[in-house]
Amino acid sequence: MTAEIMTQADQVIANTYKRFPLVLAEGSECTVYDSNGRGYTDFVAGIAVCNLGHSHPKVIEALSLQAQTLWHVSNLYYTKPQVELADWLVKNSFADRVFFCNSGAEANEAAIKLARKFFNDRGENQRSRIIAMKQSFHGRTMATLSATGQEKIKKGFAPILEGFDFIPFNDADALDAQIGPQHCAVLIEPIQGEGGVRCPDADYLKTVRRICDKNGILLIFDEIQTGMGRTGKLFAYEHFGVEPDIMTLAKALANGLPSGAMLAREAVASAFGFGAHASTFGGTPIVTAAALEVCKTLVADNVIDRGRNTGEYFRKKLLELKERHPAIVDVRGLGLLLGIKLDFNGGTLVTQCMQKGFLINCIQENILRFIPPLIIKKEEIDALTDCLDGLLADIPDGPIPDNV
Ligand SMILES: *Cc1c(COP(=O)(O)O)cnc(C)c1O
Repeated sequence: MTAEIMTQADQVIANTYKRFPLVLAEGSECTVYDSNGRGYTDFVAGIAVCNLGHSHPKVIEALSLQAQTLWHVSNLYYTKPQVELADWLVKNSFADRVFFCNSGAEANEAAIKLARKFFNDRGENQRSRIIAMKQSFHGRTMATLSATGQEKIKKGFAPILEGFDFIPFNDADALDAQIGPQHCAVLIEPIQGEGGVRCPDADYLKTVRRICDKNGILLIFDEIQTGMGRTGKLFAYEHFGVEPDIMTLAKALANGLPSGAMLAREAVASAFGFGAHASTFGGTPIVTAAALEVCKTLVADNVIDRGRNTGEYFRKKLLELKERHPAIVDVRGLGLLLGIKLDFNGGTLVTQCMQKGFLINCIQENILRFIPPLIIKKEEIDALTDCLDGLLADIPDGPIPDNV
């Protein structure tokens, strides 16, 4: 059965993902099960999506109830779950208004459009360019790949959209030098996720905020990966004492149902008037009912604080591994967005971990990223770090050539 599904997939599904030979069929808490019933502890969580793990009973209940009540109506009408979710997000963030969509890329599209519209409304349409960071990731649509600071994402898709300038992350002087009267916004991930779990230096984001203010331009935080408790706070910006003007969310917002949101302060949000932007599915009742339950559960069950503590424990275990294995050159990240940088290509380790019952993720070729559900247990972390300890012990000293 498993082999059949994989063969069929190779024939009918677009080849955009190189998949592991694994057919996943079920999930519960932090474990997913393949079609043969074998369990894997999930340190990928759908790429930082399933923050409450799989099959969370409260989310299932909220979703089931809404499924029996109302799935979808147009945004030409009001619905309660959407209003309640927006209200929760507003009360728990810097923002005053929320625009709902269905994915991270769409949330960033909305942010890019809003930043331009804001200055356009004020008659400053020369302020249209956006400064983004090298090694950033903002999505795969034409505008968001154009805003992404990685050439491999753009390759083959010319013409790339005009209007984005790139500077190195963590370099406030570069921002100061680049910024000008042609710019409307700085777009930045507080911690670069896909780019390699790269954290900002102390005060860097504060300096970015100050430079934006001095130049009268907007600051957009892409919290699609860092948001919803991933880093140990509801939003990563809370760690750094800085608030953006616009923030984008997606991934964990509905714990796996397609969902995105763009949040903004009133003065900025008001640039989106009637008809300025839209989405058929955005904020649909079936998704927002689930997302609202996700949000409430994160707080009611103390998931974020517990995740922060578990993240600190996990980080300590990774630092211990680094002591023991010189092949680990760096341990990085915050909360349960963690990574280790290796001095060799990590692809083989990912496969070996899978064979031993753990799903992990390798990015930028040599960075193992760990983004488990926030409800991950210490014992599950111990089991993974023990496994890595054993696998790394078998690796000969000195850098291994890539792609072995
Ligand atoms: C995943 C991600 C996106 C894109 O989200 P999609 O839902 O895949 O479009 C954008 N920005 C960041 C920081 C992400 O991690």
